[in-house]
Amino acid sequence: MTATETGKKGYVYIIGAGPGDPELLTVKARRVLLEADVILYDDLVSLELVDQFRGQKIYTGKRKDSHHFEQEEINREIVRHALQGKIVARLKGGDPFVFGRGGEEIDEMRKNGVRYEIIPGITAAYGASAYTEIPLTMRKISSSVAFCTGHPVSSIQVPDADTLVYYMVASTVHDVLDAVAARGRSPETRVAVVQNATRYNQQVFTGTLDEFRRRQRAVYSPALLIIGDNISRFIADNWYSKKRKVLVTGGEEKRYSSRECVTLNVPCRQVEGADLELLRRSFDDIRSYSMLLFQNKFAVKYFFKYLFEGGRDVRHLAHNRICTTGQAAASELQQYGVIPDLTLDSEGCGDIIALFREHGITGESILLPGSNLHDEFLVGGLQSLGNRVTPLCVYRHGAQELEQSIDFDFIDEIFFASPSCVRNFSTMFAAIPVRITVTCADHPTGEEYRKVFG
Ligand code: SAH
Repeated sequence: MTATETGKKGYVYIIGAGPGDPELLTVKARRVLLEADVILYDDLVSLELVDQFRGQKIYTGKRKDSHHFEQEEINREIVRHALQGKIVARLKGGDPFVFGRGGEEIDEMRKNGVRYEIIPGITAAYGASAYTEIPLTMRKISSSVAFCTGHPVSSIQVPDADTLVYYMVASTVHDVLDAVAARGRSPETRVAVVQNATRYNQQVFTGTLDEFRRRQRAVYSPALLIIGDNISRFIADNWYSKKRKVLVTGGEEKRYSSRECVTLNVPCRQVEGADLELLRRSFDDIRSYSMLLFQNKFAVKYFFKYLFEGGRDVRHLAHNRICTTGQAAASELQQYGVIPDLTLDSEGCGDIIALFREHGITGESILLPGSNLHDEFLVGGLQSLGNRVTPLCVYRHGAQELEQSIDFDFIDEIFFASPSCVRNFSTMFAAIPVRITVTCADHPTGEEYRKVFG
């Protein structure tokens, strides 16, 4: 079925999100993201950025604990949403056409008659160049620049350009350096590795080609390798490294001057995003659902919190079949006195769908409490087995998602906006390194901080 056959006017924007700093998004990208019904975003796109838009978010990267999308599946998802008449934003790190597989996605749009446009983004090389003071070209020193890939090893090329920028080098830095040396570049050629360019945890290492070939230092993704004599000796002392890195809770980053500081926004609210109107309706009409499916313990925890707050107790769910995926959700349920009718032990969404098929679960009307980032793949899979599925947002990710990714080594200051920010923060991080300055918005927040962390 193509867009013309369905008569619907879906539209796809393939958008470059820039290299990391959420403010490096173009004005045009921001405008269309504000309009988008669905946002499909990749690994390298920061949650801080995605969180600003209200469209339904679908993560298509490869993070652990979430469904692993293959490119063909992503293509199908984009087309499926577009054919439903939606405005779809396909948000990719950097620029969609620089090692971004944007080309493959537009082929799919064309095949299906879906209208689209492409919005360029700041590619990692431009971000790294500006934020570390490495000009990519320089009069008399470098009059050409080439963007290359370090992965897979068999594709490593060494073009005849003054400045070489290699993407995807985390595991292949030495292969690239050997290839460059083999092409006859001087051992004294300057080299830089830039990790996490334009992010609060940006790091840059420099030296000569020879030094780098002898050094065994791990390189962490995302990283770029830049080679060329335009790299100055002073870049470790770049303008970006001089800024204070402040972790801000409660959306109060405006308190800090952007000339002095880089702020990293940690929302510290897990529940505010619950869809209260839909929650109320779902509880009122709970009998219209034949099954409640809980995928994790947070879904259970917040679902019951709202149930109890509304003056009801577990007897309200007496007519629903209750199903969980995984033991954590099942044990959480037991704390509320509920033994699930069915516990499926599964890893990932593909499995859940297979297990549903095995158990012959079809014709059900399923209420699926979960986060704001509910899994479209799961919803689609259960529907394709002949079930009606209603996702219900009972908590937001935000802070939860950031849990593993904050690197305190790079943080100079933490700002707490309210006592509840302190409490939520403490559920994610047990301690704050003493080196870090802590600032509290007011007296009650300070009290709470001393109580929780003191
Ligand atoms: N389309 C993207 C590139 C995607 S390929 C762009 O235009 O930037 C992924 C590679 O991009 C990573 O392996 C890394 O080499 C590079 N990259 C992306 N973001 C980066 C960042 N913030 N810092 C350093 N390298 C980055």
